[in-house]
Order: sequence, then C-alpha cells, then structure tokens
Amino acid sequence: MPKTSLSPDAVKIMLLAVADQIIASEPFLSEADRNLGDGDHGLGMQRGFTAVKEKLSGMSGADGIDKLFGAAGMAMISTMGGASGAIFGTLFRDGGKALAGLTELNATGYATFLRAACDGVTNRGKAKPGDKTMVDALHPAAEKAAEVTSLPVHEAMAAVAAAGEAGRDASKAMIATLGRAKTLGEASIGHPDAGACSVAIILRTMSDFATA
Ligand code: ADP
Ligand code: MG
Repeated sequence: MPKTSLSPDAVKIMLLAVADQIIASEPFLSEADRNLGDGDHGLGMQRGFTAVKEKLSGMSGADGIDKLFGAAGMAMISTMGGASGAIFGTLFRDGGKALAGLTELNATGYATFLRAACDGVTNRGKAKPGDKTMVDALHPAAEKAAEVTSLPVHEAMAAVAAAGEAGRDASKAMIATLGRAKTLGEASIGHPDAGACSVAIILRTMSDFATA
C-alpha cells in the first residue's frame, strides 16, 4: 500500500532497506569510483551501512525519527573513513537533527530532512552544485522536495528520487573540481560521480519503500 506518511517504525524499516540496497550495490559503486577516483567508494559505503544495520538493530521507532536518522549518521561517521564517511554521515546526522520531535514523516518532514542534510554536507565539505560530487544529486533533490510538500509522502519521495537521478546523470558532463577526481580535469567528463550514484540509490530506495 502506498504510504501517505511514515511512522517511526516504518522509518527504521526504510533505513534498513536503504542499507541493504547500498550494501548490494558495492560492485557498482566501486566501479563508479574506479572511473574517477581510487575505487573504494562502494566498500566504504558497504562498511558504513553494515554499521548502520547493527546500530538500528538495537533501536525501535520509540527512539524517534530524528534519533533513527541521527544514529545512522553517527554509525557512518565512526566506521567509514574517507571523504564520504564524513559527507554521508553528515547527511543523515544533520538531516535527522532537523526532525527533533517529529512523530510521523510526511512530505514536509522529508523536505526538512533533505534541506538540513544538504546544508550540513555543503557546510562540511564546501562543495557547490557543479563541482561533480554527491551534492549534484542531493541539492536538486532537496530543491524538489521543497516544491512537493503538499503531496502524500510516497509521491513526494518519487519526485525527489527522479530529481536525484537527473542530478546524478547531469554529473556525467561536469568537470570535477573537488576530491580525488579533481586531478583528472577534463578526463572526468563522461562518468557520473560515485557519491551522486549513492545518493540516487538512497533516494530511490526510500521512494520504493514508501510506494510499495
Ligand atoms: P575518497 O574520495 O576518500 O576515496 P569515497 O571514494 O568513499 O572517498 O567517496 C568519494 C565521493 O565523495 C565522491 O564521489 C564525491 O561524491 C564525495 N565527495 C568527495 N569530496 C566531497 C566534498 N568536499 N563534498 C561533497 N562530497 C564529496
Ligand atoms: Mg574513493
């Protein structure tokens, strides 16, 4: 049944689904990073989301939506390392912090989460849209979320996932100006950014969960 909003228990199950999907995507994400970086992105994400699963297994919806997202972020920060440990950990930690007191995740809450997540990531890593990083998927997703706050959450999440995927695809044509891919210069054109691929998977898995 498509969901108009998500209970705290549903948010926990959704995060576990995201973890499983990212873990299963390790070869694809490592390949994406091999094209532009050092090839370890999939392994880092796999390690981080394995820790997320362990952390969430000791929690329940009663801990609160904000704490579920926050704990996921902290688990990633403390286990992943690399650029993306701080970046993806911050996405979930700062996004979660903005949801304090929220008892049901609707489209407005999802927009609040993504706005805070994107602000946290850009404050931390200083990437701007167009630098060919995961921000190129996250930023358009946050913008789209702000436009669709009146929709049931499954429709909002579907619109946001499509915006993230479009951002990932747009990153193919960009020249990397940050991170390891920076040294490639124009040779970075033609491949999507690995972190943007991860963001697209995260958002699509959330949408699929809300739609099922
Ligand atoms: P590392 O670069 O340390 O090997 P990963 O391979 O795990 O780390 O992650 C690389 C991804 O991290 C890139 O594809 C990019 O999306 C993201 N990234 C790197 N630096 C930044 C930054 N300053 N801001 C946002 N994202 C970044
Ligand atoms: Mg790497």
